[in-house]
Amino acid sequence: MKKIGLDAGHGLYTAGKQTPDGIKEWSLNDDVCDIITDILSSYDCEIIRTDKDEGYTDEPLSQRVDRYINAGVSAFVSIHHNAYTGSWNSATGVEVYTDRSPTAADERLAKDIYDRLVMYTGLKGRGIKRANFQIINQNKIPAVLCEGGFMDGTFDYKIITSNIGKRGYARAVAEGLIEFLELKKKESEPLEVIYQVWEDVKARWLPDVEGKKDHAGNFKNAICCVRANLTRGNIYYKVHIKGTKTQKARWLPEVKNREDYAGNYNQPIDAVAFYTDTGKTLCYEAHEKKSGRWLPTVTGYNTSDSRNGYAGNFGNEIDAIRVYFK
Ligand SMILES: [Zn+2]
Repeated sequence: MKKIGLDAGHGLYTAGKQTPDGIKEWSLNDDVCDIITDILSSYDCEIIRTDKDEGYTDEPLSQRVDRYINAGVSAFVSIHHNAYTGSWNSATGVEVYTDRSPTAADERLAKDIYDRLVMYTGLKGRGIKRANFQIINQNKIPAVLCEGGFMDGTFDYKIITSNIGKRGYARAVAEGLIEFLELKKKESEPLEVIYQVWEDVKARWLPDVEGKKDHAGNFKNAICCVRANLTRGNIYYKVHIKGTKTQKARWLPEVKNREDYAGNYNQPIDAVAFYTDTGKTLCYEAHEKKSGRWLPTVTGYNTSDSRNGYAGNFGNEIDAIRVYFK
């Protein structure tokens, strides 16, 4: 897996590095780094932050350089925002820097980011430049420094402090890195439902079950409660209490993931209903205690649709369920 060095320039308390109205450059840089990290999280790479991601210390530049070299990163990007006079002015535009004697890789990385930076921020392109910045002044690892607009420029300020502007900056860097390093999307995690039931008689939660591998429940012992989650996305579910002389038969409130469980201890249920926001078909089945059989598979979620809106027959306790993606 490729490693990427990412750096939010300066520290929160570095004197002078701020907008005229006091927004710290580090925090703008950090916001952009966080979005870059987020975008790249679905790619096959690891981000190494050279500024430790906390801002309290302005780590010395030599320490930052050592960190990314020692980590063995494949590329390094330092995120900055520019300043001209420190008071409001009309300076505007973005720049990407290499060191004074760039390698071909430095120049390619700079270009991969720069073209997008101009496009995505909508700010004036001031060019790819060379400078003796210590943070990128080594030729072992492709490294660039980005200036994403002027903190004291009245026009740039509006862009760089907005979510859209920060996202544009971050996207430019992330996509530039994706192209430069030829990063590939991670194989997405398998989608699975994990669920368990609370069993009457023995009055306990049974172990989690994953999808189709098993069912949750012990035949002959009615179940009272259900708890479920997905490996990604959200699952919503509810249970129907069978009802007794003292307890009215009814649907209990919907539960999302493991924020709660659906059901009441010691009150057997006779129906369940599930749905997810994954866009994939979720199938579920209830096992009837009395008849000892699995009821038909249900894929819908509608408590007034007894055919495909929930699993169960009112009045007949269920002692097991099965929930899985098709
Ligand atoms: Zn800076």
